[in-house]
Amino acid sequence: MKDVSQKDRELNLPLSTRAGEKPRLQIGNSTWEPGTVAMIGGPCTVESRAQVLEIASAVKDAGGFMLRGGIFKPLTFPYGDPLARPDRGESEEGYDRSKLLAKSDMLATAERRLGYLKEAGERTGLPVVSEILYADTVDLMSPYVDMFQVGYRHMFNMDMIEALARSGKPILLKRHYGESLRSLLGVVEHFFVRGKTNLAVCERGVATSHTHNTHSRAIFDIQVIPAIAEQAPTVPIFADPSHSTFTRSFVAPISLAAVAAGADGLLIDVHGDPETAWVDPLQALNYKAFAKLVRDAEKVAAVIGKRLA
Ligand code: PEP
Ligand code: MN
Repeated sequence: MKDVSQKDRELNLPLSTRAGEKPRLQIGNSTWEPGTVAMIGGPCTVESRAQVLEIASAVKDAGGFMLRGGIFKPLTFPYGDPLARPDRGESEEGYDRSKLLAKSDMLATAERRLGYLKEAGERTGLPVVSEILYADTVDLMSPYVDMFQVGYRHMFNMDMIEALARSGKPILLKRHYGESLRSLLGVVEHFFVRGKTNLAVCERGVATSHTHNTHSRAIFDIQVIPAIAEQAPTVPIFADPSHSTFTRSFVAPISLAAVAAGADGLLIDVHGDPETAWVDPLQALNYKAFAKLVRDAEKVAAVIGKRLA
């Protein structure tokens, strides 16, 4: 790769670009092993206890490895924050999607829904991953999650890096759509130099001029997967075809391409009734589509000598 020179590696990226094998990642009671593909499914947003319990058992039955579920949503627009909305199935009388709540007013709802997520994980035996939005919620979230997701918007958030580096839990670090692999490895270096090595990075698409079209929010950067394998062989790379394609019919093909390219895991939005999902209804897979994706991913993984986690 042109943008990571040998000198750069020695000076700026000595830890993240070192030679070696990927580590095993302990995620709750489960272990991700190198050579396996972790199928992660779940709702973009936890909407109710019943919703996440149902999705978790569908993910488990399909052969999933881990449950994802968003609680804190980094919304592009301030309106309609799920944490201001009553749980799915409850009365929405009096709910005003344009009313902003302060973070402090959302924490009780967040903790209640984190409880749903944890219960869903415990009932199915799946570890859970959820995005952290505020660095000062590591302690609040820790009893409920097995892995912290860092969304693309927070890739360079130093408060977050410091706080998460002190946590024993593994991290799923997304690359911002406008950032190079070199910059992503710079953030990995920040974690490694702090002694935090139980992390995986996640590709969720890059913006190009073409992505101003309606067909795509970002272009999934397939070649970053072999690039990481060459430049940073000890860093597992997962793929998020849901948030990069933003388009339901693209999710399976891009997922399989990512597995073929060597991705170590897939993060997939799954919903019982995708069209009605509170957030990102255009991209979620229903249970049947997720189950098929798991079976197909297993076949593609086998072609390159890998198996499902
Ligand atoms: C998500 O995974 O729910 C999410 C919001 O991801 P991203 O940071 O990639 O937008
Ligand atoms: Mn989403």
